[in-house]
Amino acid sequence: MQNTGMQITATRHTATPTHCPYCALQCGMNLTPAADGTVEVSERADFPVNRGALCGKGRTAPAVLSSRVRLTSPLVRSGDGTLVPASWEEALGRIAGNLARTRAEHGADALGVFGGGGLTNEKAYTLGKFARVVLGTSQIDYNGRFCMSSAAAAGVKAFGLDRGLPFPLEDIPKTGCVILVGSNPAETMPPSLRYFTELRENGGTLIVVDPRRTKTAEQADLHLAPRPGTDLALALGMLHLVVAEGRVDERYVEERTAGWEDARAAAMGHWPEYVERITGVSVPELREAVRLFCEPEAAMVLTARGPEQQAKGTDTVGAWINLCLATGRAGRPLSGYGCLTGQGNGQGGREHGQKADQLPGYRKLTDPAARRHVAEVWGVDPDSLPGPGRSAYELLDALGTDIRSLLLMGSNPVVSAPRAAHVEERLRSLDFLAVCDVVLSETAALADVVLPVTQWAEETGTTTSLEGRVLLRRRAISPPDGIRSDLEVLHELADRLGVEKGFPTEPEEVFEELRRASAGGPADYSGIDYRRLAEENGVFWPCPASDGADGTDGIDGIDGTDGTTGAAVRHPGTPRLFLDRFATDDGRARFVPVSHRPSAEEPDDEYPVLLTTGRVVAQYQSGAQTRRVDELNAAAPGPFVELHPRLAARLGAADGDPLAVVSRRGRAVAPARVTTGIRPDTVFMPFHWAGEGRANTLTNPALDPTSRMPEFKVCAVRVEAVTKAAAPADTP
Ligand code: SF4
Repeated sequence: MQNTGMQITATRHTATPTHCPYCALQCGMNLTPAADGTVEVSERADFPVNRGALCGKGRTAPAVLSSRVRLTSPLVRSGDGTLVPASWEEALGRIAGNLARTRAEHGADALGVFGGGGLTNEKAYTLGKFARVVLGTSQIDYNGRFCMSSAAAAGVKAFGLDRGLPFPLEDIPKTGCVILVGSNPAETMPPSLRYFTELRENGGTLIVVDPRRTKTAEQADLHLAPRPGTDLALALGMLHLVVAEGRVDERYVEERTAGWEDARAAAMGHWPEYVERITGVSVPELREAVRLFCEPEAAMVLTARGPEQQAKGTDTVGAWINLCLATGRAGRPLSGYGCLTGQGNGQGGREHGQKADQLPGYRKLTDPAARRHVAEVWGVDPDSLPGPGRSAYELLDALGTDIRSLLLMGSNPVVSAPRAAHVEERLRSLDFLAVCDVVLSETAALADVVLPVTQWAEETGTTTSLEGRVLLRRRAISPPDGIRSDLEVLHELADRLGVEKGFPTEPEEVFEELRRASAGGPADYSGIDYRRLAEENGVFWPCPASDGADGTDGIDGIDGTDGTTGAAVRHPGTPRLFLDRFATDDGRARFVPVSHRPSAEEPDDEYPVLLTTGRVVAQYQSGAQTRRVDELNAAAPGPFVELHPRLAARLGAADGDPLAVVSRRGRAVAPARVTTGIRPDTVFMPFHWAGEGRANTLTNPALDPTSRMPEFKVCAVRVEAVTKAAAPADTP
């Protein structure tokens, strides 16, 4: 164990079964406090998703609990501009005072709230309620907007419901073919790779669509490497061939879908030769992909950030869904479209109210019935609830102008937001910034007040994995002295801002309220409680409260029971969605006609190369936690620019030479990593680091018109060889 600068207090000395703090796979693990004050991670074989396997991030996660750089006291900005330790009383008082002042002077919408996809369901729920009930602001969104919102929007359009995977991971090895689009689970969630390995061992095939020959692509039966930003055209070309080769499942289309003729007409304009010119994927490769996908009884398409993080991400995912629908590969056993959600609670975090347009239970903020239902649970007038606010990037872009004060929880946008130098400048221009975090992240370092909060192993809460499986993360140790939970922070702030009730600090109490708020909504958790989660290794939503409840599963006043009579009928949860009908009014899935269009920024003489960004196996998102772990830093010490030998030769650059990558938004410098595993017209940078190698200095905040997802995955850059002495020049 490393970085053991802080003593950990055990709440028990036996192993506590819980889950990893990082990605959406939410691997099960056991945590045991050790005699030397550290926490040991051990295999938790009873959790079926990872069967005990963990990646390096999960295995080393306790190092952040005891890190010497962990915050243990509130910090406030002093007169000389430095952050200095302060009491909780002073720090909370400053935050409440500044929020109240801003609201009085500029109105409630001058207050912003920014959350995170790593927050538990209880925190995400409470943060949304805090923004709308205590602050009265519409200006709340979260970094999950950057993660999967295009897939969510496309799923809602096509199926009437967004749940990352509409089937459990265990179905993957049993299907006939999987197309993985813009996903690299070998690096982002390594324990999940076994599902694809088993698929191939069972005779199924794996197709990977990625501009890079990733570790996942190396294991594929077929690797298609389209030019970044052209996978919409690729899907349309495949659909064209499906029609031309007579592979449409006419009966399924007739019985279970609507809108096929328009989608078909749009696809027929995308001739394979035309698609080859756009994407760089040859016609024979396209034909082979169609053959592999269509010949088995069942098949799946899984997308991740590649197709989603584009200014046309919703249409791109929609094109892949159309391919599934035309071939009868959705809402049938072992077939379907799914999104491999990224962040630890990316799924639950978008269901319970921290998203700008949503109320708990995945309800729409614009729906009068939804407003009435949630307002009743919250004990407020429905008319007092604000309407939808700005999306994440738009909110960050408005800092210092329309939005004057910001409360930020569980996010580090200085590293993770697009056009990051501009976002950093916007954060600096605020009248007041308060940040809750476990370490002094790059964003926390800009704050006027920083509050040190508990970490995953020190608090109980629920998350919802990429499968839609609601899980209980249990507290295994006590937090260090001087640290409070996010729920305690929101309770204290609500109290200071005049709302004394409705913000409990016990996670289970919050979850009980969340159950009532979600009841009857698309993401219905009302039949789930902590006891069930502990007994069942998670429950898949929707899971409505029992309608013949015996007082254990039903919720009084919600399901019409009195809580004392009736037979116990426990809803089993819903591992597989859409098998009988889709979640639309008529039960049919919707084709959405889409056509190829260029990325927001295409290469030109000044910026002739495409940049795409992503992750490496040993770091996680903005790196706020993983960059504090020695073992992970040794494995992935810093950013790099991956490029093809032909491009490197043109630049006169060798492996390790510093390269400047310049876009219209700024300049980043990192060493070259030369590989034949990337297209010659494309460079790749991981986005986990701040400073001169910050990839998001370069990325384009062009937004998808539906999901408001920024175009992280493609922008135009030029690449220059530089001397080591040359300094980078970020520009906002
Ligand atoms: Fe944690 Fe994800 Fe690694 Fe599993 S794959 S150990 S959930 S980071």
